[in-house]
Formats: sequence, C-alpha cells, structure tokens
Amino acid sequence: MNDLSAYHRDTQALHAGRDPDANEGVVNPPVYHCSTVIFESVEELLETRRDRASGAYVGFTYGREGTPTTRAFEDAITLLEGGYRAVVTSCGLGAICASLTAFLSAGDHLLIVDSLYGPARAFCEDFLKKFGVEVTYYPPSIGDGIEALFQPNTKVVYLESPGSLTFEITDVPAITRLCRARGITTIMDNTWGSPFCFRPLSHGVDVSINAATKYISGHSDLMLGIAVCTEDKFIPVKKTASGSGYCGGPDDIYMALRGLRTLPLRMRQHQQSATRIATWLQGRPEVARVLYPALPDDPGHALWKRDFTGASGLFGLVLNACTDRQLAAMLDHMKLFRLGYSWGGYESLAVPTYPSDLRSAQKWEAPGPSIRLHVGLENVDDLIADLEAGFARLAAAA
Ligand SMILES: *Cc1c(COP(=O)(O)O)cnc(C)c1O
Repeated sequence: MNDLSAYHRDTQALHAGRDPDANEGVVNPPVYHCSTVIFESVEELLETRRDRASGAYVGFTYGREGTPTTRAFEDAITLLEGGYRAVVTSCGLGAICASLTAFLSAGDHLLIVDSLYGPARAFCEDFLKKFGVEVTYYPPSIGDGIEALFQPNTKVVYLESPGSLTFEITDVPAITRLCRARGITTIMDNTWGSPFCFRPLSHGVDVSINAATKYISGHSDLMLGIAVCTEDKFIPVKKTASGSGYCGGPDDIYMALRGLRTLPLRMRQHQQSATRIATWLQGRPEVARVLYPALPDDPGHALWKRDFTGASGLFGLVLNACTDRQLAAMLDHMKLFRLGYSWGGYESLAVPTYPSDLRSAQKWEAPGPSIRLHVGLENVDDLIADLEAGFARLAAAA
C-alpha cells in the first residue's frame, strides 16, 4: 500500500484502509464474515497463541479479535488521527467502557469531565463505582486548575470537548501536559469533532474515542466504536476490548469505511449549514443562547479556533422561559428536524435536553428549556423554514 502519511487529510480519508493491488484490483476492501480461522499446523496455531499472549495482535486468530476488514478500518482511523494502532468495538459506548476499564482497578481514582456523554456518566456511576473506583467530576472550563484535583491514586483523566448537550470547550493540551508529567492516562471522547476536526493524540491525549455510529459512518444505519491509542496504551485497550467481548460486525465495519470516504465533504457542509442556522437562531426572540463553539461570541471560541480544524453540525440552544406544552408544540410537528437520539447522519434531528440532570461539579443555569439540534445536509433555507414554523407553533401554544 502507498505511504499516505504526507497527504492532506482529505486524500487520506479516501485512500486509507484499502489496497486494490493486494486485492485483484478491486477498489474497496473485501468484507470478511468470520468466526473461525484455519491454521496450517499446530506450530502456526501455537504461534498465534504467543502473538495474543504478548499482545502483539498481528495475525488473525478468531473473529472476535478482528479480521482484515477490522484491521483496514482501524488502520484508516489511526492514519487520520495519528496514533500507533486502534481498536474497533461494537459501539461508541463500548470503546469508552473498554478504555476506562483497561486502566482502572479497585482503589483507583478517575477524574471525569462534568459535561460528558450521559451513558458514559451512567457507566461511571452504576458500574465503576460498584467495582471500587473513586470518581470525581471536574468542570469543563478547569484548564490548569485540574492539578488541584489530582490525588496520589488518580490513574485516568477523561475528557470530552466540546461537552455533550452544553458544548463547552476544554483546554485539552493544558490538561494532558499535567497528566503526562505524572503518568496519568488521558482518554478523550472525540465524537463531536470526528477525526476531521480534531486530532486528540496531537494534543497529548493517550486514547481517542470515536462513536463511528455518528459522523464517520454518517448514514444513521449502524453502531460502531473505535479507540485510537498511543503505542504504550494499545495492548491494555485491545486486551480489555477483546476480553470483554466488544467486537464489531463485518458489515458495519465495511459501511463505516464507506462512510469515511465522504467524511471531509460532509463535515464541511455540516459546519457551513450549522453556522448559518446558529447565527440565524441568535437573532430570534425565542432564543436566549446558542451553544456552538464555531460562533465568534461563544465562550469556547478562542480555544476551538486554536485547537480544532473545523466544527460539526451539532449544537445546543437555550430558549427563553416557556412552558413544556409550548416546547412540545414546537418539537412534535417538525418536518425535517425529526425527534430522535443520535446524530452525525445526513439528516437533521432535534431533541429536548435536560443538562441539569447530568451535572454535579457545576450547576447548569438557564432561563428556559434547551434543545440539541443536529444540522443535516438538507437545503439550509428548508431547515430554517422548519424552525420558523416551529417557533410559530411555540408562540401559538402560549
Ligand atoms: C453517541 C455517542 C457515544 C456512544 O456511541 P454509541 O455508538 O451510540 O454507543 C459516545 N459519545 C458521544 C459524544 C456520543 O454522542
């Protein structure tokens, strides 16, 4: 395969993880449907056992540990994010759980950002605490101040920037610098930015997680996760993911690779459309605040501009005070911004959000209810008309 390291990320996204010359000239990699792998001899079988035991995971042993299709996707995302190797998991949450449990044991301390993805918070509360891990939440704006929260048993600092639902930007390099100096492992959820907008490992992060369910696959039709690791973190994450049974299915991996080819194009359009809609929303009397770091007056804008190479189509808005009935009147009848979880597909989505239920380090203050919008690839004027009709229903329900 060509060495792609010198190419622009747009070119890398198109050519990574495929090798027509090694595959009869076929452009895309084959999909291996696989549980069993046949060995030529007992010697070869023992060789793969040694390979697994050492954690090298070079060869193919059994479907759960990955196939050439899995490896193609792992190699592609590794190239884009700049790492040693990656580990595919059955979904984004699987990559989070495997990465956390790889580095934490009973008696260890975990520092975790207060604005993290809700189900990841639930994993800390419902499972890690049960297994004796001490968990402290830190405000996303903490920066260097995180040092004051370090304990002798702090093993992992977990980041997500911008935060889920509220979209605060964290000073990632400030935190990773302090962690590196103390040997604390850093894990970051990079799903909002995708490999196109942010490269966590270039900012000192050890393990970068993407829910490939979202932008990488881009079509709302599969579940998949991936964790890109530095060299010394790969084996613990791989062992934990394999040992906990978090493997991805071959067709889903293939479709994620297919989605990856258009990631740069889609992300540019998501950002352009989201910026126009976010700016339009700022001028609406129903809207108190728009939470989108790509806007020049957003509190996270300077850090976003310094560290990110783009923005996605996902942002929040806080409405002025209104009743639950008014909010439902708006959201129940949207024609393009349909009501549903997840995001990162080609289509627009909306959900009401309840950030105060998911904050413990810092109180969430807002004059009214909040909404999360995913701006898809539809025509922007059509999307604005949909929101405008929604605001008219909200006013009529007063
Ligand atoms: C959706 C999401 C995940 C989880 O991914 P799944 O594939 O749904 O398990 C993790 N982090 C963030 C920020 C997400 O939005």
